[in-house]
Amino acid sequence: MSGYMTYDEILKKSETLNESYELDVSIFEDVVDELLNSEKDTDSVVLEGFRRLLQSVDGTMENIDTFLDMKPNCFMGCAFCCYFPIRVSKMEAKLFFQSIEHMSSERKEDIFRHWEAYYEKFPQKVETALDIDPEDPDMKWKYKQLNLPCPMLNEETQLCMAYEVRPVPCRTYVNYSDPTVCATQHMPKETVSYDFLYTFYFQAMNELLQALYENGEELSVEYPMDAWSYDYLPGWIRQYREGELVT
Ligand code: SF4
Repeated sequence: MSGYMTYDEILKKSETLNESYELDVSIFEDVVDELLNSEKDTDSVVLEGFRRLLQSVDGTMENIDTFLDMKPNCFMGCAFCCYFPIRVSKMEAKLFFQSIEHMSSERKEDIFRHWEAYYEKFPQKVETALDIDPEDPDMKWKYKQLNLPCPMLNEETQLCMAYEVRPVPCRTYVNYSDPTVCATQHMPKETVSYDFLYTFYFQAMNELLQALYENGEELSVEYPMDAWSYDYLPGWIRQYREGELVT
């Protein structure tokens, strides 16, 4: 396929997806089964589960693209979507921070320095963003209008500083049309969010944690409370920096 898809073409593909696509849940279930049957220690099982289930979301996105015969036009260095609100559970936030703690010292220091500058540069915008009611129907619009970058976005390179463990909403938002729509509009109608994939990822993550919990394992996340407590990513990062969120 060449050229950019029109909005109507994208809508037609979405209909086909809704009507005919059968999601392969084994992509998620196999990760959980394999890890629960492994000899790895509990912390490694949870952290690896988190990373691999994020990859399962990517794999499912690729399957969808193959099924619909379409290809995103998103490219490295385009980061307009990194100004949208990213909401994650406390469980995901903790595993995200644990993943960062496992990075090289150089990478970690880069991220910590970046956060320091970020919270100094945008104190008011962060406050305003965190005050936006997540249930407000205009939440995304209000947040995006703030023009507040995600705290993981390196504004010079326009790259995510923790790309391999970026949250699900960062993975499931794609543009199959002209990429300039993301540059010129806050909420382009042509973009697609496969939000429903979060449910499959979350269920699998929940299944993994529940099995370990019922088995009496000591978990680095407080289960089930952490799985049901949500906030914007800048809020979790601020708590983590201030020592209020311990991994
Ligand atoms: S986590 Fe990374 S990919 Fe997601 S919004 Fe932030 S910078 Fe962008």
